[in-house]
Amino acid sequence: MKRFFARVGRGLARFFFRHWATGLVVLLLLLAALTGYQMWHLGPAVALALLPQLIICLILIGVVVAVHRALKAITRASIVETGVAQGRTVLKTTVEEAKETLASLSTDVKRDLGRLVGGAAEASAADPPLRCPRCGRVSRPGARFCEGCGAALHIACPRCGRAMRADARFCMACGAPLGRRG
Ligand SMILES: [Zn+2]
Ligand SMILES: [Zn+2]
Repeated sequence: MKRFFARVGRGLARFFFRHWATGLVVLLLLLAALTGYQMWHLGPAVALALLPQLIICLILIGVVVAVHRALKAITRASIVETGVAQGRTVLKTTVEEAKETLASLSTDVKRDLGRLVGGAAEASAADPPLRCPRCGRVSRPGARFCEGCGAALHIACPRCGRAMRADARFCMACGAPLGRRG
């Protein structure tokens, strides 16, 4: 039972702490209503004596409402400020992450492009126009078969299996002699 009352008391305290303005206004309104009722009921003589009480009640209601509103505005402003600060931090982090991603992406793209360009240059340097070992027609760089007779322009190294130009005399990977044809 004691615990129940303690809990109710704590609940009421919490409620009034949170809604103290509402509670105060309700109390003051009750007081004002009581005063008004007394003034109306007991006649003009008492009414005049009770008038200051009524006025004080009304003024207090106004003060409570004003203070409550001001506090609310301050709380809201601080919440908004916190929110803005948090939003800024989040935005900053996101931007940093995006920057990092972009940087790594551009590095990757650059590297890949470099590889592509370098590879192409390497390929064209390593693959000058190849004369067909069978018909002698010169094929374009990178061609695998002769455009004139269809002969294979590359042969597999007999030792390591690497594909070599048909006009190569030795394997560029292992140095094995390829045996010239044509
Ligand atoms: Zn050919
Ligand atoms: Zn080889």
